[in-house]
Amino acid sequence: MHLHPTALQHEELLMKFWRMPLDAEKQSIPVGELHIIAERCKGCGFCIEFCPNRVLEESKEFNSKGYHPPVMKQDFECNNCGICEVICPEFAIYTSVATKRQFSKSDLVRYEEILFVTGKTHEKR
Ligand code: SF4
Ligand code: SF4
Repeated sequence: MHLHPTALQHEELLMKFWRMPLDAEKQSIPVGELHIIAERCKGCGFCIEFCPNRVLEESKEFNSKGYHPPVMKQDFECNNCGICEVICPEFAIYTSVATKRQFSKSDLVRYEEILFVTGKTHEKR
């Protein structure tokens, strides 16, 4: 008997239980300010790839080593999770809390979209 869900089943389960928290209106979300030490960046792209909010992209600018440091995408928002800082092998990126704001329905939609984009096999409901 097959006891473990497949990757697709696991993802569908995740989506099924992905709901607005009951106390959502009481939650506040930190809004991060991005700091990049462009000269340290070696363009590995780890921060772009692993940002759970998908808010980073390669800049068009070069640093003096010839790499494209990351930048924040326009109209996107960092929630100061700190993953980019932890994952960067060159200590070239970090964030700080600029402000806080309330959790909203649009956050839920955005997280659902991120899950959808990340799990490429799921069919949107
Ligand atoms: S702190 Fe988190 S959300 Fe913000 S840019 Fe880094 S990885 Fe992305
Ligand atoms: S993880 Fe660090 S070195 Fe790699 S692209 Fe991002 S800022 Fe540059």
